[in-house]
Amino acid sequence: MSFSYWEIKIAHVEAGGIPMFYFRVCADRRRSCTSKQGIIMAGTLDRQTIESIVRQIVYDRFATTPDCGCAPKSGEYRPNLVVSISARHVHLSDADVETLFGKGHTLTKMKDLYQDGFFAAEETVMVVGPRKRMLPSVRILGPTRPATQVELAFTDGISLGIDMPVRESGQLDNSPGCVLVGPKGVVELKQGVIRAERHVHMGPSDAEFYGVKDKERMTLRVHANGCTTTFENVLVRVGKEIKLEVHLDTDEGNASDLEHAAKVELVK
Ligand SMILES: [Zn+2]
Repeated sequence: MSFSYWEIKIAHVEAGGIPMFYFRVCADRRRSCTSKQGIIMAGTLDRQTIESIVRQIVYDRFATTPDCGCAPKSGEYRPNLVVSISARHVHLSDADVETLFGKGHTLTKMKDLYQDGFFAAEETVMVVGPRKRMLPSVRILGPTRPATQVELAFTDGISLGIDMPVRESGQLDNSPGCVLVGPKGVVELKQGVIRAERHVHMGPSDAEFYGVKDKERMTLRVHANGCTTTFENVLVRVGKEIKLEVHLDTDEGNASDLEHAAKVELVK
């Protein structure tokens, strides 16, 4: 089988309390080749390491002679599609980090995210809604940003009693606020609670491959037994040194059973 074109989907799964990564590899752009899938125990490995292990396994076990007639010319760019579920999280400004965790405090990295330079912090905050309903520990993602932003799924908003708009990250005007409670202080946010708009991060080579530009829209199809779902209006966000990665929220991921998906497709 030739892996001239890879579409790798990696998702966290829990098996008997052990964190694992599920992966699936599709062999060609036309989806005419059989896909391979499997599970790798993750332990403390990060997503990037898992991805390189998956690549190695695929090369070692399956990469033999081309048989699908779809091999690219050498040097042709091959996108590596990753679809991730972004669970509820908070981005904090430097000032709010100090208010919540104490003067001079900076975020402590717990785990690198798939995109270089971004990380999940050790720190969490309590998010409190208007009727004193709350989410006790919401993960903070780093690095810090100019403005504090809380990204929740609609399900979270319903449980907190917050009616959230769907927004591109950073577009916070007239969004609702909430109260954040940390070990050393409280921040009353006037605005900043949003449901992040589904989006795809990509680099210039990915944008060229798909024939799209920054801020354009694409379609993601998740093929899963009994609940295949098409997500339209996927916002394209192009940046240098950015890896191809779709971000859905937990509602979207669960609705489409992304964790057990047999195939994911991104089309213009
Ligand atoms: Zn994102």
